[in-house]
Amino acid sequence: MEIQFLGGCQSVGGSGIFISVDGCGILADYGIYMNRRNQAKLPLEPPEEVDAAFMTHAHLDHSGAFPYLYTSDTFPLYLTRPTYDFVGILYEDMFKLERLPFGKEAKIKALKNCVFVNYNQKISLNHDCKVTFLNAGHIPGSYSLLIEAEGKRLLYTSDFNTIKTQLLEGAKFEQLKVDALILESTYALETHPDRANTEKQFIKTVNEVLRNGGTVLVPAFAVARSQEILCLLNSNNVEYPITLDGLARSASMVISRHPDFVKDYELLLKSLSSCRWVKNDADRIKAVSTSGIIVTTAGMMKGGPVSRYMSILAEEPDSAVLLVSFQIPGTPGRILLDTGQYATEDGMSKVNAQIKFFNFSSHSDRPQLIHTIESLKRNSETTVFLVHGEKKVCTTFKEDVEKEFGLETFCPINGETFII
Ligand SMILES: [Zn+2]
Repeated sequence: MEIQFLGGCQSVGGSGIFISVDGCGILADYGIYMNRRNQAKLPLEPPEEVDAAFMTHAHLDHSGAFPYLYTSDTFPLYLTRPTYDFVGILYEDMFKLERLPFGKEAKIKALKNCVFVNYNQKISLNHDCKVTFLNAGHIPGSYSLLIEAEGKRLLYTSDFNTIKTQLLEGAKFEQLKVDALILESTYALETHPDRANTEKQFIKTVNEVLRNGGTVLVPAFAVARSQEILCLLNSNNVEYPITLDGLARSASMVISRHPDFVKDYELLLKSLSSCRWVKNDADRIKAVSTSGIIVTTAGMMKGGPVSRYMSILAEEPDSAVLLVSFQIPGTPGRILLDTGQYATEDGMSKVNAQIKFFNFSSHSDRPQLIHTIESLKRNSETTVFLVHGEKKVCTTFKEDVEKEFGLETFCPINGETFII
């Protein structure tokens, strides 16, 4: 089994892995990353013909570059139904926002070649090579890949989360026999705060603001985080109006069509049907004029209807902006957290509303990563590859894994090839 890393090495973004087994070319993820000029960049090109491709989940850093390959080639693209629906939405958004090296025809061709799969389903690519899809617990429809061929077993976790959230079951890899592990390392040096405690603090803050007559603005990612927050508010019986706006509305429609890919479908439906879906700007004005909660895109406060709400709420000291996603440096959300100022088209403006951050990460942290390696059925030859993490994070964690488990561990660079 030959593994070549095409992207997402010693950095976060543009994931791509090519696996060559028994004459079969497998491509696992093919995402974009944004350079400093805000242009979409692709991973390296696959070294050989692709026979089967796998989109582990809809996030563009794993999915955004697939259409490029369909400008010259055709092959089946295996994904779950929620992923298919989400990428439809995210690709449209990508075409609006970014400069891309492919057009809409390539996107249409890629989506036409999709093959739908479910969790725990095992498919055969040829007489020797089998692939199993495991729940990754990251966003609805996200999977980890187990590839079995030539007597070897390779687990590619992709982005994964082992803890249960309001929306999803956690990933479970206990006792899975592996000869090679490709592990995401985004938060390999961090420990997330306890989820239940984060939820409790979030609800406490929401209730305090509402009781004082303020409005709570929750800028959240459209896919998964928005719905998780709605479920959390609903399961805690917050009895104030909840408003849903932005791309989160179409993402919510998608999730509501796939009961098999959420933890508690009844809670999800209850949460979605009890909130007000914004239809026009009058609805927005109504939402900010009353004491209630507004869940809207964008998660990092760049684009989407969030600026419309901020233009009114920012002045109000009784109201609050509760950030529930990681804020990338340089984004308006991060600047707001760091400086208390909101970047508008007219420049920076001081925000009087309260600003708080809550860690609702959908990635595994260090204890979860360590537990994952610990719980796998390893042998002394098992090899670990650390990807999807900043260079310093990967190299530090590599030493820790080697010391703690005695396993040969690599932080590959883009283009590097390994044989297992
Ligand atoms: Zn992701």
